[in-house]
Amino acid sequence: MKGFYIHIPFCKVKCLYCDFYKIIPKSSFEIDNFLRVLSMEIHENSCYYNTIFIGGGTPNILDRNKLIELFEVIVKNIKLYENYEWTIELNPELVNLDNLVIFKDYGINRLSLGIQSLDDYELKFMGRLHRKRDVFKKIDLIERLGFENVNVDIIFGGYFQDVGKFRKTLYEIVNFPITHISTYLLTIEDGTPFKKLNIKLKDEDTIEEMFKMKEEILYEHGFYRYEISNYAKKGFQCKHNLIYWKRESYIGVGPSAASFIKPNIRYKNVENLGLYLEDYKKYREYEFLNDEQILLEKIYLSLRLDEGLELQDISIVSDLTEFFNIYGNRIKPNIKGIMVLDRLAIEIFQRINSRETLKLSSL
Ligand code: SF4
Repeated sequence: MKGFYIHIPFCKVKCLYCDFYKIIPKSSFEIDNFLRVLSMEIHENSCYYNTIFIGGGTPNILDRNKLIELFEVIVKNIKLYENYEWTIELNPELVNLDNLVIFKDYGINRLSLGIQSLDDYELKFMGRLHRKRDVFKKIDLIERLGFENVNVDIIFGGYFQDVGKFRKTLYEIVNFPITHISTYLLTIEDGTPFKKLNIKLKDEDTIEEMFKMKEEILYEHGFYRYEISNYAKKGFQCKHNLIYWKRESYIGVGPSAASFIKPNIRYKNVENLGLYLEDYKKYREYEFLNDEQILLEKIYLSLRLDEGLELQDISIVSDLTEFFNIYGNRIKPNIKGIMVLDRLAIEIFQRINSRETLKLSSL
C-alpha cells in the first residue's frame, strides 16, 4: 500500500465555497468519540506506507492533547518507508508554536497551509477566518521551526477576485520560504453557500489571463507545473497526491475518506459523523470499476500530469492539435486544452473506445 489518508472532519467555521465533508464540533466529547473510532480504523489498516496525509476539515483544530493522542495511534500502527512524506493540512489562524513543535517531534515533514489569498477583502468574502497578516506571521514561525517542505494553497477565478490583487498575491508567495504552490480555480459546487448566493466565476478570457499570469510568475521563480493545478520546486512534488494521480493504491480513514485498491476497487466512508461512529464498515460504499471506467480515469489523470498521455496512434487527435503540444506519441494539453480538460478527456476516450484495435500503449 502506498498512501495513507486521514480525514479530520472538524472546522471552526464553514467557508462559503467549500464542499468537503466537515462539521463544526458541538463539544470536546464529540471530538474524543471521533478519535476513539478513528483509532480503530487506523489500527485495522496497520501496514507499511510511503506517505501519510492528514487533511480535512481542519486538522489543527485539534488541541495539544488530542493531537498527541492521534499521533501516538499513528506511529504505533502506520509504519513508514525511508524517504517517506508525512503532510498535515493547516489553517493559518490555528498554527502556533505548540502544534508546530508537536508536528516536528512526531516526524511530520511537510506542511500545507490553506492561505487561499493574500487580500483581506477576498478572504472575508470567502468566509475565511485568517487575514493576510496572520499568514506572514505563521510562515515566519514555520520557517523558524525549520520545516523545509511547505505548500500553500491559493484560489483564483471568482468574480470577486481582482486580477491585479492576484498578481500581487503571487509575487508575495513566491518569496515565502516554501517549496510547493497549489493553485485552484474556484468551482461553485452544489450545496455550498456560494451556489445558493449564485456567485459567479470571472469570464473565460480573464480566467485564461490569470492562468497565464500565474504560469509566468511561478516559472520565473523556480516553481514548475507538474500537474494542472500544482507547482513545485525541483524535487518537491507532493508524493502523496502523485499516488492518487498515478492510480496507485491508498487507504483513507475517517468520514468521507476514499480508498483505492489497484486495479479497480474503490470504497468510500460515509459522509456523516454519526453513522461513521455507529459503524463505519456498515456504511461504506464500494465501487468496482469496469475497463471503460479505468480507461477514462487513466486518460483524464494522464492529461493532468506533466508527463501527458501516451497514445499508440497519435492521428486520433490530429484535428485537436490546437489543444495540445505533441512530443512524439505523447500529448500534453496547452493552456487552451487545460481550460476544457474534462471535455477533451471524454472526447479522446470515445475515440479510443470506438476503435476496438486501438489501445493506449501505456495501459
Ligand atoms: S475550506 Fe477548509 S477550513 Fe474552510 S470549511 Fe472547508 S475544510 Fe474547513
